[in-house]
Amino acid sequence: MAAQKTILHIEDNFENRILVRRLLQSVPYQVLEAENAFEAINYLRKTKPDLILMDINMPDVDGYTLTSKLKTVPGIKQIPIIAITANAMRGDREKSIRAGCDGYIEKPIDIDTFLDQIDHFLQISGQRNQPHA
Ligand code: MN
Repeated sequence: MAAQKTILHIEDNFENRILVRRLLQSVPYQVLEAENAFEAINYLRKTKPDLILMDINMPDVDGYTLTSKLKTVPGIKQIPIIAITANAMRGDREKSIRAGCDGYIEKPIDIDTFLDQIDHFLQISGQRNQPHA
């Protein structure tokens, strides 16, 4: 059996965290939660999740800024970061890719497809991280 995957969810909104936690834990994935950039960085010092879900709209440090920072850190920059944002109309998909995000999920979260999207991103990163001969 494959080891349980760990997902770090960075999101300032409590209700969004509950929803995502409930979905992810049903698989089950191990879920870590950070309310802000500071907490996220603290987690990433101690543990390397398989995937990061990044809310874009957060007070203080937004998801673009935090993603750009994380993508410069050795040991962290290879962890896939998936942006979660409601602002598809404002070009947030392009902005998040430019900031270094590896993918994009729209809010409100579609509970019928969310886990398939997560599984897809985990499979892509699994292929990418396979050891080279
Ligand atoms: Mn938010």
